[in-house]
Amino acid sequence: TRPVCAPLDVLGRDVTVPLVTGGEVAYAALDYAASAPALQRVWDDVAAYAPYYGSVHRGAGYLSQLSTDLFENARATVAEFLDCRPDDQLVFTRSTTDSLNLLARALPADCQVFVFETEHHASLLPWQDARVTYLDAPRTPGRAVETLERALAARDPHGPALVCVTGASNVTGELWPVRELAAAAHAHGARIVLDAAQLAPHHPVSVQDLDVDWIAFSGHKLYAPFGSGVLAGRADWLVAADPYLAGGGASRKVARREDGGVDVEWHESAARHEAGSPNVIGAYSIASACRALTEAGFDALVARERHLIEKVRTGLAAVPEVRVLSLFGDDAPRVGVISFVVEGWNSSHFAAALSAEYGIGVRDGLFCAHPLVRTLLGGAPETQGECGAPEAAPGEKSLNAIRVSFGAGTPDEHVDRFVTAVR
Ligand code: PMP
Repeated sequence: TRPVCAPLDVLGRDVTVPLVTGGEVAYAALDYAASAPALQRVWDDVAAYAPYYGSVHRGAGYLSQLSTDLFENARATVAEFLDCRPDDQLVFTRSTTDSLNLLARALPADCQVFVFETEHHASLLPWQDARVTYLDAPRTPGRAVETLERALAARDPHGPALVCVTGASNVTGELWPVRELAAAAHAHGARIVLDAAQLAPHHPVSVQDLDVDWIAFSGHKLYAPFGSGVLAGRADWLVAADPYLAGGGASRKVARREDGGVDVEWHESAARHEAGSPNVIGAYSIASACRALTEAGFDALVARERHLIEKVRTGLAAVPEVRVLSLFGDDAPRVGVISFVVEGWNSSHFAAALSAEYGIGVRDGLFCAHPLVRTLLGGAPETQGECGAPEAAPGEKSLNAIRVSFGAGTPDEHVDRFVTAVR
């Protein structure tokens, strides 16, 4: 039975936090790009299932069979949500980072990888063992396609190649021209993986329509709890690769050899890369979030988010000391992720003040995208890491930035309070 709640109601609306000025205020979670609150619907689905869960793919007992069905149905639900091709494989992982590292381990020999320097570290770094070409930050979506085409045209055309690109930036929220980049990749015999960690929660995504070979995302940014993610796409590279983890569940047959060693036959299904007892509740909660988002409809979600983006951008534009960070320009289409700096302010202090004085949770730092943020800040010097950057003196360049991000369940009041606080 369905609990009575709107599909996009989120947890945590009643949480209050203390203010340094005294009293308490309802917490304004404006850090969805780090982790979005779970949907109430997901929580209710998990609670309804919790008494029944058992180990999957193993037991003969009724609950074990039920869990296996729910796990495999979750796979089908998520594949449908992503509009995968019928012969795609969908592997449940721990996160986007895990998914991209899995794919990096499954690259064919001599694979060349092409990646923009603007990527989140999860999509920038897993390819270090391959031949990687890092592409300079493009200043328009069109330049991104040109830059990729030029790099691909210069590559050794015989070997395998992979392009990795983020659909929506976790720093600027800007949308990347995924379909055009996929067409460029395919025209040059390369494949493409889409990091949809920030795209999938805000935008409808179709693997077939975008024509990407793989897609990766995390449950905890798509209104499900932590601990589960997805890699979906072409089966061939995944089946040809050694299992990501060796162990039970990934192996079909294991036998001692006469010479004393052990022979293993690995599964050729997604189970090959899901060794160990899988995170059934994680998979189930991602599928539940996919169902709730589909039921609510992305049209409603996108329209609501556009309204909030407009409010934030208008509010920030009215403060002369604020500079919003953008790679593609102010008019570029974006999701509800906006980073900015405030002249004369250390971003970490600014974010701390938003929390302590207004009960607003944002993020400060370089957002696991150090090269991109440095480019956007105009080549700010090395910092001491994600947070704790040295203080910028008045008039000096900021050394890190502040990020506000929102989505389903964000009330106008949170955004209004944020704008008032910044002002
Ligand atoms: N890619 C992008 C664009 C992201 O924003 C993030 C998370 N900030 C990741 C990848 C990594 O996601 P996770 O931490 O869930 O692995």
